Amino acid sequence: MLDNVRIVLINTFHPGNIGSAARAMKTMGLSHLYLVDPEQHPSPQSESMAAGAKDVLAGATVVGTLQEAIADCSVVIGTSARSRSLSLPQLSARQCGEQVAREATSNQVALVFGRETMGLHNDEIQQCNYHVYIPANPEYPVLNLAAAVQLLSYELYIASCDFSTDAQPAPELPENRELTYFYEHLEQTLEKVGFIIANHPGQTMAKLRRLFNRARPEKTELNILRGILSRIQQNASTREQNQGE
Ligand code: SAH
Repeated sequence: MLDNVRIVLINTFHPGNIGSAARAMKTMGLSHLYLVDPEQHPSPQSESMAAGAKDVLAGATVVGTLQEAIADCSVVIGTSARSRSLSLPQLSARQCGEQVAREATSNQVALVFGRETMGLHNDEIQQCNYHVYIPANPEYPVLNLAAAVQLLSYELYIASCDFSTDAQPAPELPENRELTYFYEHLEQTLEKVGFIIANHPGQTMAKLRRLFNRARPEKTELNILRGILSRIQQNASTREQNQGE
């Protein structure tokens, strides 16, 4: 199960934090580290902070965008030191551990961490299904990046130890890239039937994306929706042809 979980660090400024995060992961049985546009990598500082987790650091995947880091993930959990200010369902660290332990039985899961200075950008938050807030002193709830990785990895490790292998496996969810194809298909269809105007879509697509991210359709349900869209497009084309005759 832990093998289906990845830690994604976005645009990390201090290489020491990358090394410390790798060490935090390894102590809790995690090994898949993704670095989105790191300020400095590889670096002697991150190596030294990784200590016995140099293998996790060496195996890290470096990508340019969050979208690339989560393309094959079905569950994306953003972390933020700001409680209740994001438009996503919020989980505590403990609930996050339990949820990930369950969902990672059938799906790839990403835990996404923001920049030391600015956390996650809005467009990155929009790519997440949940927001995790580590309950902390309301006067200063901002943990060091690697400390936040340690705590969430610990909760996941504990939940994975408690997780019963007899429990029902979680339903298979579509990968992020399949959802992207679905949104493209939906947008084309809405344009074709004149519900939105190409190049002037307004907020409709953003709102629909939010709806589906919240509803989290299963793989089979998404296939039905795509089938419906294809049929609508076919009918619209037939009508256009008939009108043209
Ligand atoms: N100034 C930033 C804080 C960044 S701390 C902000 O306002 O968002 C660096 C990262 O550590 C955060 O982006 C988040 O991924 C994680 N983090 C720190 N404290 C956290 C907390 N209490 N709950 C969840 N994640 C936290």
